[in-house]
Amino acid sequence: MSIGEYPRFQIDLGVVCARCGRTTVFDAGAVAWHFTQKGIRKTLPVDTRLFKCRCGSRDIKTIAVPVESRPNPLPKPPVRLVPLYVKDEGKPRR
Ligand SMILES: [Zn+2]
Repeated sequence: MSIGEYPRFQIDLGVVCARCGRTTVFDAGAVAWHFTQKGIRKTLPVDTRLFKCRCGSRDIKTIAVPVESRPNPLPKPPVRLVPLYVKDEGKPRR
């Protein structure tokens, strides 16, 4: 089974923080797309390297969350400004 198959079973990906208890829920299809772009394997168990809780903890586990548990309406996603590109100044960083 792959994370990319979750949507077919009406499952979202929940990321649970062991430190603060917060559960952050992701659209599994979006996670699968992201993993593909990053070259991360999508087979289970879910590779959690990319996830970090807002409290700063990386001590997390993933759970399956039924899509039907989504709040309606969904809260607005956080607004993030993504740069077009970064100009390399040619100064090596250490
Ligand atoms: Zn946390």
